[in-house]
Amino acid sequence: VSNLITIDGPSGSGKGTVCHILAKKLKWHLLDSGALYRILAFAALKKQLPLNDSAALASLALTLDVSFVSNGSGVDTLLSGENIGDKLRTEVVGQAASEVASIEQVRAALLARQQAFLQAPGLIADGRDMGTVVFPDASVKIFLDASAEERAKRRFNQLQDKGFNVSIAQILSEIKERDYRDRNRAVAPLRPADDAFVIDSTSLTIDEVVEQILNLTAL
Ligand code: C5P
Repeated sequence: VSNLITIDGPSGSGKGTVCHILAKKLKWHLLDSGALYRILAFAALKKQLPLNDSAALASLALTLDVSFVSNGSGVDTLLSGENIGDKLRTEVVGQAASEVASIEQVRAALLARQQAFLQAPGLIADGRDMGTVVFPDASVKIFLDASAEERAKRRFNQLQDKGFNVSIAQILSEIKERDYRDRNRAVAPLRPADDAFVIDSTSLTIDEVVEQILNLTAL
């Protein structure tokens, strides 16, 4: 499949920003698969479902009424018509998302929903298992990485800009913990696909990463 670029990697690698820029440049669709796991987690917390109830979570995943609607500057995330975009990026939802994401039935229930994003003219797919599980036939697969220290520094700067008072040591230990969980879980562990190009963004700017990807795709 040639009109498809998958970009996987750990949080803080810059893939979210890179994917937005690429989708805008190419005028392709964008799948933010992490948002789907966050929305499911948000809905489960709201319904007070236990986060280890695989069957209930999988059935919720199948029936979730989610839509992504463009507004002037970005995308609104609607859950049953309610705009919940600004409620998904909290630590509580992130933690719950990574818990529900480790359940095999949940991942299976979200598979078709993710694959349905592949539509003309093309798709940029952002996640952890885009190249390995969801779109194994993509012709261009990127694995975007960066050192844990650099990713902690980026997160620290983001949070400081928003006025949060946090310690970089605390962020680094959370990042390492989440990395370990994502890379070692039994189902769809975070790893580069065999045919992925690995880009280390530790000492690259966002623009340099975008340029490398466009060069690879010859677009
Ligand atoms: O990328 P983001 O931080 O929004 O993802 C939230 C959580 O969802 C991650 O911690 C990860 O465990 C999970 N996830 C996943 N597979 C994806 C995307 C996200 O397991 N394709």
